[in-house]
Amino acid sequence: MLEFLRSASVLQVTLFFLLANIVIFTSSVALCWCLGRWFGTRRIFDRWEPLRPVEMAAALGAVVLNSFVSVGGWFLWTRDIIVLKDTGILRAAADCIVMVLSMDLGMYVFHRAAHLSWVYRWLHRFHHRHETTNPISLFVLHPAEVIGFGALMILFLTAYPMSTEGLVAYLSLNVLFGTLGHSGVEPFPAAWGKVPLLRLLGTSTFHAEHHEHPKYNFGFYTLLWDKLFGTLDPDYERRFRQDTTE
Ligand SMILES: [Zn+2]
Ligand SMILES: [Zn+2]
Repeated sequence: MLEFLRSASVLQVTLFFLLANIVIFTSSVALCWCLGRWFGTRRIFDRWEPLRPVEMAAALGAVVLNSFVSVGGWFLWTRDIIVLKDTGILRAAADCIVMVLSMDLGMYVFHRAAHLSWVYRWLHRFHHRHETTNPISLFVLHPAEVIGFGALMILFLTAYPMSTEGLVAYLSLNVLFGTLGHSGVEPFPAAWGKVPLLRLLGTSTFHAEHHEHPKYNFGFYTLLWDKLFGTLDPDYERRFRQDTTE
């Protein structure tokens, strides 16, 4: 696969990433819908946000923009500005953890900045049209936010020589956490709320609360930065217990 991408033309790579992003979008929507059915007794919201044409258009736009950002990353990789390494499983796991924590911090900072009143009005309010969520909420973003997230990821990859497997694991986790956070149900086991490291994971309740109370919970994958900077919803633990009680 990597050999094909190395030698492919811009057109081939663009089509490849477009197809890959359509598969990611479809899988995320399908998983969200399945989670809603499998965990119907653990609802965070009473209903899903209605599907509106402008938001469906934005979601499709995000799929196209994500493909262009991927092509940008590919271009830097073919010029060795982004370096990917073939490593063992342990190094891949370590790289994945480094990328999750670094991206979580970067996204926390940009997400808090996006809630400054003028930035919010211009940029981020569009995502918050969804007070509850639905299966496309993850992709209902202003185009500048899609490019901003992609740019942050590319910036990280230019600074950190990442293991290929670690990058694939990170990208998979990114879609999984984004899907969970907008699923409107809480699939995480109640017991995880008491286990030291697991209780720091960003649950569905964690991001759902951000849609309800936008002044809390700015992180994405972990509660770490919100705990550290004092922006974790004080009601979070009670709400998680409530959402995991069938
Ligand atoms: Zn959201
Ligand atoms: Zn927000």
